Amino acid sequence: MTILVTGGCGFIGANFIIEYMGQNAGPVVNIDNMTYSANPKNLLSLAHNPQYIFYQHDINAYDAILAIMQRHKISAVVHFAAESHVDRSIVSPGDFIHTNINGTFQLLRAALEYYKTAGAGFRFVHVSTDEVFGSLGPDDPAFCETTPYQPSSPYSASKAASDHMVRAYFHTYNLPVLITNCSNNYGYFQFPEKLIPLMIHRALADKPLPIYGDGMNIRDWLFVTDHCQAIMRVLQHGQVGETYCVGGNNERNNIAVVDYICEVMDELQPRRDGLSYKTLKSFVPDRLGHDRRYAINSQKIQRQLGWQPQTNFRDGLRKTIGWYLQNPSHFTHQ
Ligand code: NAD
Repeated sequence: MTILVTGGCGFIGANFIIEYMGQNAGPVVNIDNMTYSANPKNLLSLAHNPQYIFYQHDINAYDAILAIMQRHKISAVVHFAAESHVDRSIVSPGDFIHTNINGTFQLLRAALEYYKTAGAGFRFVHVSTDEVFGSLGPDDPAFCETTPYQPSSPYSASKAASDHMVRAYFHTYNLPVLITNCSNNYGYFQFPEKLIPLMIHRALADKPLPIYGDGMNIRDWLFVTDHCQAIMRVLQHGQVGETYCVGGNNERNNIAVVDYICEVMDELQPRRDGLSYKTLKSFVPDRLGHDRRYAINSQKIQRQLGWQPQTNFRDGLRKTIGWYLQNPSHFTHQ
């Protein structure tokens, strides 16, 4: 079973390819146009693996993508490619329209054309986010598969649009799609602009640790390997046309996350002056339209596909920080 992964040189895509190939599940064709968040070093371990094939293309390149699907007789598409950072979407929303909306549309077009001759068993897994559901109040129930969409940033709005288009291709053209909506990931390879790797990088450089607003925004954190396992379950056993919410059952506010990063770093790499990294915390003006709280109810995927998160937050964060400490030059010369 040869699968086509888009955005496989980014954070989650690279972790997914490594997990998938580690299970000897079959060859992987990776299409990525190598934006700032892609990193060829993420997949260096596969450089000489004949089962791994890389093409540098924009997912908007319909003809090239269709030709690749046909050449490699693709059995499934796992679609990660996206512009993924909310702050960037506030400054440059057009990039998010280009990739997340138009790019997903072109990929769906190519998949449908290919599917006409691909035969039974073909699947299109669209990897999306819990941010499409909007923001929760402190006592609201967690998001689930039937929660209405209410995106609030250009990023989440563009992902919501892509989800709708993917679903439309199922209902209108019978393209066998599956959708996952996952909470915040952390782990190896994440570009140091998102909260956890940003804090680790800045702490190592002895720079202030910027926390938005009052620091009480809550996210549900999931270790990236657990997310990859969930996608694998959906790819292999999910029901076509269905959506699966994926989360860590692990809500934490930003201050608590930063404090814990500081405590682990105090232990693993103490500062020369003996002070805690916590003294670097600094509060900065809040992000525009900052969603207050996300939480995910993953009962459906747990019940129907037997998936459970395996990594608790403290262990996962410790592994993540250990990896960043051992790979200080991973993000240089990108
Ligand atoms: P990332 O920014 O680390 O990686 C995105 C990858 O997509 C990069 O390699 C980039 O080069 C590639 N890409 C971007 N535009 C492209 C284009 N036009 N054509 C081809 N490739 C392109 O993102 P990530 O954190 O790995 O997220 C992957 C997916 O998972 C995204 O769809 C995101 O919405 C979703 N997701 C992320 C999280 C999270 O916490 N990071 C949570 C839930 C869902």
